[in-house]
Amino acid sequence: MSLSSHLNYSVSKFVLISLLACLIAGVLPAQDLATRPSPELVRVDEKMPGILIKLRYATVQNFTGKRIYPANATAWLRPETVKQLKIVQQVLRKQGYQLVIWDAYRPAWAQEKLWEACPDENFVAPPKQGSRHTRGTTVDVGMADLQGNLVEMPTDFDSFSPQASHYARNLSRMAGEHREILRQAFFKNGFSGVPAEWWHYDLIEWNRYPLLP
Ligand SMILES: [Zn+2]
Repeated sequence: MSLSSHLNYSVSKFVLISLLACLIAGVLPAQDLATRPSPELVRVDEKMPGILIKLRYATVQNFTGKRIYPANATAWLRPETVKQLKIVQQVLRKQGYQLVIWDAYRPAWAQEKLWEACPDENFVAPPKQGSRHTRGTTVDVGMADLQGNLVEMPTDFDSFSPQASHYARNLSRMAGEHREILRQAFFKNGFSGVPAEWWHYDLIEWNRYPLLP
């Protein structure tokens, strides 16, 4: 065997062993969320040009304090979800507000990372059950004015405090009003919510749709 073919052989053997090691360790490169993660999903900024997308799990500004998604990740949802979300956006804009998308489709591998950071079913869906976000039917949102400035809401995203509840009453007047405007816009246009998280909305028929990878 010549030196160069021996090197090629060694390199390919190295690559093969590395890939096997990744498979065994379960750390194959994760989806980047910049390319379509599933044929069932559409890219939100293509269907809703100009929508504000600030994926908090692509930053360290989330409850884990760590970046979960790659920095260039973008938002993906089922087309049925986007259809209703467009109506919510129209309703809000008429009142001088707009949506800020904090999370949308969440891959199963990302749900596992969140569970590792907080293995408590009160706050994070266990991976064996799967998150509604992994169905592409669900969004986490904040609200901004038409210039794009965030408006006051009851809490920040992913707050585990009692003030994050839809039933919290000890809020400033503005925070309470904004929560109500957002909730009405969603609840009257095809979405439901969960009691403990004012920012989280599910397509009403979310359980008709499968968990995606
Ligand atoms: Zn959520």
